[in-house]
Amino acid sequence: MINFKTGGPFVTRFAPSPTGALHLGNVRTAILNQLLARQSGGKFLLRLEDTDQERSTFAAEAAILWSLSWLGLAPDEPVRHQSLRLGLYKKAVDRLMAEDRAYPCFCSEAELEQDRLEAAAKNLPPRYSGRCSRMSDEERAERLRRGDAHAIRFRLPEKAEVAFTDLIKGQVSIPAGAFGDFVLLRSNGWPSYNLAVVVDDADMGVNLVLRGEDHLTNTARQILLYDALGLTAPAFAHHGLLVDPEGKKL
Ligand code: GLU
Repeated sequence: MINFKTGGPFVTRFAPSPTGALHLGNVRTAILNQLLARQSGGKFLLRLEDTDQERSTFAAEAAILWSLSWLGLAPDEPVRHQSLRLGLYKKAVDRLMAEDRAYPCFCSEAELEQDRLEAAAKNLPPRYSGRCSRMSDEERAERLRRGDAHAIRFRLPEKAEVAFTDLIKGQVSIPAGAFGDFVLLRSNGWPSYNLAVVVDDADMGVNLVLRGEDHLTNTARQILLYDALGLTAPAFAHHGLLVDPEGKKL
């Protein structure tokens, strides 16, 4: 297994969403990523995850870039913007659709809320019921022909338990059932966080993803996506979060 000291060179990245100013927790993640890249003779990259069109602002982006440069955390290559890479995400989804690893989901907000309530009543984490995955081919084709609004979801493999070795936590296993078929593309054609991260990290040659442990379940989703897209997953390391005396994220 690779380790921080002997592994590398590591291509790492920092991937903030420009929806507000950087907080201390983000800055720590960026510093660790830059140090690992430097120590191993690799590269430190920066990607702005600006796919939330309502919440991303140019002012937040400018503040993040200014703060990183002030902190001596400028990236080793020009910054990437996810909003300028939509074609890449669409290509990945077309491939998954062609291989029946993804399907259109026509569910309304009300139906999805119903699913969330039902899961909560059974003390389960909120997850999609899989309603549209069971739709007949005829109905699916008819609704697509009619132009009904739809998202695209990933079809989870039968046995979706994911196990991996985390460079900080050691052996991690996320049980099947921790999440359902998740969204890849929203109905407006913009990618979900999980799809965009996998496509971009692979395209940018990132071989070590170091981020907060609040992303552990996302890592499981992402490993399934790397597999479905025939891509090699990077090494993963999840650090603890910076919290205040009440245990709330800083
Ligand atoms: N945009 C995500 C965040 O700010 C990035 C997480 C990741 O590093 O993959 O939490």
